[in-house]
Amino acid sequence: MKTAQDLKKAILSMDHRGYPAYKSLAADWRFDDYILHIDHVQGDPFASPSRLSVSVSGRTSRFPSFLYETAPRRTALEDSLVRRFHKQSEKVSFKAGGSGKSGLIGCSRPGQEILSRTACRTRKESGDILFRFDVGFPARGRSIDAQALIRILFDYLPDIVHTALMYHDNEAALFRAAADLADDQAYIRAELLKRGLIAFVADGSVLPRESGVSQRPLKNAVAFESPASMSVTLDLPHRGPLTGMGIPKGITLIVGGGYHGKSTLLRALELGVYNHIAGDGREYVITDESAVKLRAEDGRCIHGDDISMFIGNLPGGTDCTRFSTDNASGSTSQAAATVEALEAGSRVFLIDEDTCATNFMIRDELMARVVRRKDEPITPFLERIRPLYEECGISTVLAAGSSGLFFGAADHVIQMTCYRPYDITEAAKEAVRGLPLPESGSLKLPSFSRRPRGARFERAKIRTGDRDEFQLDRETVFLGQAEQLADREQTAACAYCLLYLLEHVFDGKKTIREALDLLLAKLEKEGIEGILPGRTVPDLAMPRRQEIAACLNRYRKLHI
Ligand code: ADP
Ligand code: MG
Repeated sequence: MKTAQDLKKAILSMDHRGYPAYKSLAADWRFDDYILHIDHVQGDPFASPSRLSVSVSGRTSRFPSFLYETAPRRTALEDSLVRRFHKQSEKVSFKAGGSGKSGLIGCSRPGQEILSRTACRTRKESGDILFRFDVGFPARGRSIDAQALIRILFDYLPDIVHTALMYHDNEAALFRAAADLADDQAYIRAELLKRGLIAFVADGSVLPRESGVSQRPLKNAVAFESPASMSVTLDLPHRGPLTGMGIPKGITLIVGGGYHGKSTLLRALELGVYNHIAGDGREYVITDESAVKLRAEDGRCIHGDDISMFIGNLPGGTDCTRFSTDNASGSTSQAAATVEALEAGSRVFLIDEDTCATNFMIRDELMARVVRRKDEPITPFLERIRPLYEECGISTVLAAGSSGLFFGAADHVIQMTCYRPYDITEAAKEAVRGLPLPESGSLKLPSFSRRPRGARFERAKIRTGDRDEFQLDRETVFLGQAEQLADREQTAACAYCLLYLLEHVFDGKKTIREALDLLLAKLEKEGIEGILPGRTVPDLAMPRRQEIAACLNRYRKLHI
């Protein structure tokens, strides 16, 4: 392998030459403590920056072996390394300046969630670390600035690698804390299943965020405190006993006056499918991993969903067992979201009245008296919520401030008052005693027999970068309403999953469930790296099966 000195010579020899000469640097270079891989060199200073990576051996990086022991611990370690690298690179990014992206040193930037990311991969056996990042190769105008690149690769980068990717003896407590948290979070997840709970919200948790544009915890927030009747104590392996609210399987309503914290609690549950970093305030808010937020999303496309459990007899004789549209209404979009969540294996539905189509959720007495049943195509969720649980084991947490119609169907009713939850189940049941329960006929679940056709692309171009959308071959897929997508790296990963499904899995014979099973097995085995079409690996974060499903369901060119 060529050495760092060879690299320096090569760079010096191309000073002032035309930018494309940089291309010849794409190779592996041995530095004292690591190998620098120049994986992809940008074509000009204004193009996307060059993609580089470093491999540091376990012997050199010296992180203690217990940090690698389990998958959750490795993910936590990798997450810490990404945050460290980002912090260091930010200090020197663009210090070596020039035209276009000259001098940029950048990497993945995780938010509050701890996710498995392509930015950093560690190996259990050896402790080896691979770290991927971007460098804007510097130019003056369009000619190579050799000295600037040498500063980046020989001054800044070694510093960043030493500070971020190597273990320092005074950091033992820091890394141990991250590993302990990962263990404790994994323990809570396992405990939920054992105890028949769908979520746990620890006392003392801080649920609200700083602002609509900041995911940091709100300062001076009212700390969460479980009502006594729902309080459970878990004995975490490291932290020890931790008390909080355990939400049991079944149907749970969150009620309360406006602005008392209902949506904030529900939002914390939505994101509790992921682990959060220490200090987030939600690090002990853990939700069943399959939980899906359901909402209305008018305007979306629907591809042959069987929504007949909610909607039948549409005017014009539309077939609701294979319902397709390019422009869904509030109610049909929410019906589709619900059956798609079932198809993707969700066991828990999370619903906020604020983002629902009212006619999908309820129909009140007065309306039922006036509009006859045979003239109303919609069987509201109100009539399905109980059978969904009793016949299919699907739990629902529903935040609802305005309608008491669900009281009769609920197992638990929590009232949020000034951001504190109170168990008002008894009072709510008392209020509806004697009133007729919501009608609930027997449930006919869809057969989930959609079998998408595959597609071939000539060089499919994927454009990513936004949390809310991506483009596949110029077709935009909007995911702004897929509220549990954690960040843009997850969105980008969904784009590659969709491409892989279309090109390699869908064949008109496999159902969506079968296709997702195959995809997830491959991701599990090979990482997201295993499904990428090219050789360079962008910054991607592991998505859940539910978000991959959300993405393919919103792809307008899907053919069933
Ligand atoms: P609701 O859905 O009941 O109308 P929200 O959950 O939207 O209420 O909360 C209303 C406001 O109160 C939001 O600005 C939110 O950030 C804030 N908030 C929520 N929970 C807390 C808390 N525990 N402490 C302080 N402020 C909170
Ligand atoms: Mg609300």
